[in-house]
Amino acid sequence: MALDVNTVSRVELLDITTRVEELVRDSSVQSGICVVSTRHTTTSIILNENEPGLCSDILNLLERLIPPLAGYGHDRIDNNADAHLKAVMLGSSESIPVIDGKLVLGTWQRIFFAELDGPRHRSVDVTVIGQE
Ligand code: ZN
Repeated sequence: MALDVNTVSRVELLDITTRVEELVRDSSVQSGICVVSTRHTTTSIILNENEPGLCSDILNLLERLIPPLAGYGHDRIDNNADAHLKAVMLGSSESIPVIDGKLVLGTWQRIFFAELDGPRHRSVDVTVIGQE
């Protein structure tokens, strides 16, 4: 299964939890695992709290650690090395347990799609495996 995602900024965090929950429900899996992954090399999937100040903090941290156009090799052919490097740091997937047909997330945990070189049309793969 896949989700279509349209991003509106170069760098942003999009909360996709509700959409992933719908796919888990549609899958009828009661006990298993849900893998949320991205095939794009300049996007990531992360779990954290959806609090606006924290979302800014995360994006600001990435910007400080990996500023754009700082002399990277990949910028010689494509001016988005920082986006690839941010994606490497954040990772391309998260695996979340499914129990009683529901994602097992902490009270404050949400699933984010991290756009690191937008705005673009993107897709997110959601694979649910287990027993119905
Ligand atoms: Zn590139």
